[in-house]
Amino acid sequence: MSSRHHAALLGEPLEMPSSLWSATAIDGPTLKSLDRSETADVIIVGAGFTGLCAAIRLAEAGLTCIVFDAAEPGWGASGRNNGQVIAGLKQDPDVIERIYPGEQGRKLVQFGSEAPAQVWNLIKQYKINCAANQHGWIQPAYTGVGFAAVRSRYEAWRGRGVDTRLLEGFGLHQLLGTTKYSLGWFDPRGGSVQPLSYARGLAKVAVDLGVRIFAPSKVEALTKKGNSWVASCGQFRVQARHVLVATGAYAEKLVPKLRTSFVPVRTAQVATRPLADSMRKVILPQGHVASDTRQLLTSFRLSPDGRLVMGGSGATAGLDHSAIVPYLHKAGQELFGHIGRLEWDFHWSGFFAVTTDHLPHVHEPEPNLHISVGCNGRGIAVSTSLGIQLANRILGMAATELSVPVSSIGTVNFHMFRGLGVKAATLYKRLQDRVG
Ligand SMILES: Cc1cc2nc3c(=O)[nH]c(=O)nc-3n(C[C@H](O)[C@H](O)[C@H](O)COP(=O)(O)OP(=O)(O)OC[C@H]3O[C@@H](n4cnc5c(N)ncnc54)[C@H](O)[C@@H]3O)c2cc1C
Repeated sequence: MSSRHHAALLGEPLEMPSSLWSATAIDGPTLKSLDRSETADVIIVGAGFTGLCAAIRLAEAGLTCIVFDAAEPGWGASGRNNGQVIAGLKQDPDVIERIYPGEQGRKLVQFGSEAPAQVWNLIKQYKINCAANQHGWIQPAYTGVGFAAVRSRYEAWRGRGVDTRLLEGFGLHQLLGTTKYSLGWFDPRGGSVQPLSYARGLAKVAVDLGVRIFAPSKVEALTKKGNSWVASCGQFRVQARHVLVATGAYAEKLVPKLRTSFVPVRTAQVATRPLADSMRKVILPQGHVASDTRQLLTSFRLSPDGRLVMGGSGATAGLDHSAIVPYLHKAGQELFGHIGRLEWDFHWSGFFAVTTDHLPHVHEPEPNLHISVGCNGRGIAVSTSLGIQLANRILGMAATELSVPVSSIGTVNFHMFRGLGVKAATLYKRLQDRVG
């Protein structure tokens, strides 16, 4: 039985969804499904940023890796996001240091701070053709609560040695191309990529380093055999000492309890037609990318071919994102409608994993079984770095040295009612955004 037989993950068909990124990405490497049983040092399940970056690090160190993807590299959140490379975790540095007092908290904050540099380094080292642009990230504030958040984030990172800047009034309006916001902070660590090109570029690098990627090949079971792990894929098996589960929000039942340790939340993206030159000169004219402080944050950037790409403004736990699209169009109109007509060409969506503490989690429920999950929408830089961290762990780094500590797999209460939970949270956040 071929793995093509399993034509869905979390109910989504395994074809690459149509999006601006799939219409404009570089080609990935030519791949095939697993067609015989194999052995390797490490099995990696999932070819998103996490799995691919781990594979590259392991191959650089001389280990043999087999990567599986049920669809193709970048099919998951990695190929569908807004492409904003952002420093830090979803929680602010001071909060992280309260949750993890002492050295662990400092390490975790530093991990988030240095994560974008790992992206830029990989892209530079391997000359990945993904329209990388490190012009910085701006977080503008929308409400009174947002102003306080902007000031405290600016100060928190400045106090930790980052060259952040506070942006106000006319200066901010010029950088964003809208007068909707009056305060923001600038983070020089951030920037943007064409996310599917980044994922496919990473897959090419991995293949060039000798990694075998099988796709489409869905791993149906992971079982222990002595000191080894066996991945079953149709009639074939791959045996390896270590296994790394990098399935992001798309985890099904491979590892007991993993699926209920986070909530898969779907957000949408929209992109306009290529904008007229007169509009490109006004919207984010210096190449920055931006995500505001709203509870239902709104992200915006220009694509390499000069389109406005917006994301956020709503969420669902289901498969259909069509109810979110009008909110995104409205947000685009409110921010930039004064400059000219916005005509929308694309909309698409994907799941990302949200944990109860809004921090990424690393698990080792059994010897040599490594898992990370929960980038909480801050995943390009963080999952790149998590992949590298998991690879270092396999290469012998002590668990106590890891920046993201190993924890046991928790359970989100009332997981089966997550649809209602996401709906209620979205309505509540929308209300909060209105009242400020
Ligand atoms: C719409 C959207 C916008 C976002 N915007 C941003 C942004 O601008 N900036 C940012 O930093 N982050 C953003 N994120 C988050 C970021 O994209 C993710 O955190 C990150 O891509 C997760 O990478 P990953 O490798 O962990 O998982 P994924 O990229 O989701 O990859 C998981 C892979 O596992 C495979 N898989 C699952 N089960 C199996 C199996 N049994 N066998 C084989 N393969 C399997 C899937 O096919 C999939 O390709 C966004 C996310 C979404 C959905």
